[in-house]
Amino acid sequence: MSNDAIEKMSCEDKIPLLGLSAEEISALIPDAPSYTSRQIRSFCTDGKSIDEMTSVSKKMRAELAERFVANPVEIYRVFASSDGSKKYLFRLTDGNLIEGVYMPHDYGNTVCVSTQIGCRMNCAFCASGLDGLVRNLTWQEILGQVTAVNRNEGGTAAKRAVTNIVLMGSGEPFDNYDNVMRFLDEVNAKDGLNVSERNISLSTSGLADKMRMFADSGKKITLSVSLHAPFDEMRSKLMPVNRKFRIADVVSAARYYFEKTGRRVIFEYTLIAGENDSDACAERLAELTAGFPAHINLIRLNEVKERGMKRPDAKAAERFLAKLTDYGVSATLRRSFGADIEGACGQLRRRVLSENNAAGTADSNGTGGEQ
Ligand code: SAH
Repeated sequence: MSNDAIEKMSCEDKIPLLGLSAEEISALIPDAPSYTSRQIRSFCTDGKSIDEMTSVSKKMRAELAERFVANPVEIYRVFASSDGSKKYLFRLTDGNLIEGVYMPHDYGNTVCVSTQIGCRMNCAFCASGLDGLVRNLTWQEILGQVTAVNRNEGGTAAKRAVTNIVLMGSGEPFDNYDNVMRFLDEVNAKDGLNVSERNISLSTSGLADKMRMFADSGKKITLSVSLHAPFDEMRSKLMPVNRKFRIADVVSAARYYFEKTGRRVIFEYTLIAGENDSDACAERLAELTAGFPAHINLIRLNEVKERGMKRPDAKAAERFLAKLTDYGVSATLRRSFGADIEGACGQLRRRVLSENNAAGTADSNGTGGEQ
């Protein structure tokens, strides 16, 4: 048996403590007095391992380590980009790899997390869907990405290095609705990381039914909707999910979200050369998003080799933006982070998996030397 398989077996059946309430921890560890359970909860929120829970007795730590892990997400590699962002590759207790991105800004620091391993949506430009869905992440695995990065960037729960969270990594958050909801509850908890809803964004490929359900849930985070094409035929080609939820349905669900929450909706629009960057597209996009507070985020495609689609040049993107602005639309052209470190969803995980396969192993060096 390979080392990796042994390690996987030894930790796969351990219960993660991260995000559990003190009561839930007490129920799992009847020997622990309730103040110990509260301490364990707060150590986990700080991103500490069981070994680092120094106010817990050594004996109890040893017992805990046999049955539990603090965080089900471990940092496997960190790749630093020349633009200041960092790509994190995480390893889960079953050996699966997922990725996240850390982006420092003037106003605070954002972490972008994954919600699934792989994705079922199979968008024609995206790396995450190339091998379909492997499995949903648990709410603790979504949360664990945030606490791991916060800790690695020098933060604690009380003094966070991560101020903003975007659910825009691999996966479709609304295809893993219940885990995403529990994650949002927990990350927002006063005695947890306490990240305010204002500082959280979720991006969806446009599952209109779940968008409406989410609008009714009472959560008021920023909703981003990946539109990417203003005509149904074109969008169905780029995003197969459009065969189920048509543009009119998606836009009306976005409008409903605004009406329910008062939050302006963001439409994501990835510009792909010769596909969706014509003047006619800009005009139709402006019509579609008129009449309620919306904002369009343009981004130039990060090319994914297997997908064969092309990134338009900066001039074409500026032109598209100018068209939208002429039509009175609120729009910005985002710079894409991490282009030199396989910034597009799912690219890095695929590359490292194929390298590991080629080498016949997944080593376990913890944080990588690429930092
Ligand atoms: N499933 C969700 C969230 C994950 S993707 C969604 O579809 O919104 C986050 C954003 O990155 C989406 O807008 C997605 O369309 C976009 N994206 C995916 N691959 C990309 C690529 N190669 N270049 C640019 N944007 C990409």
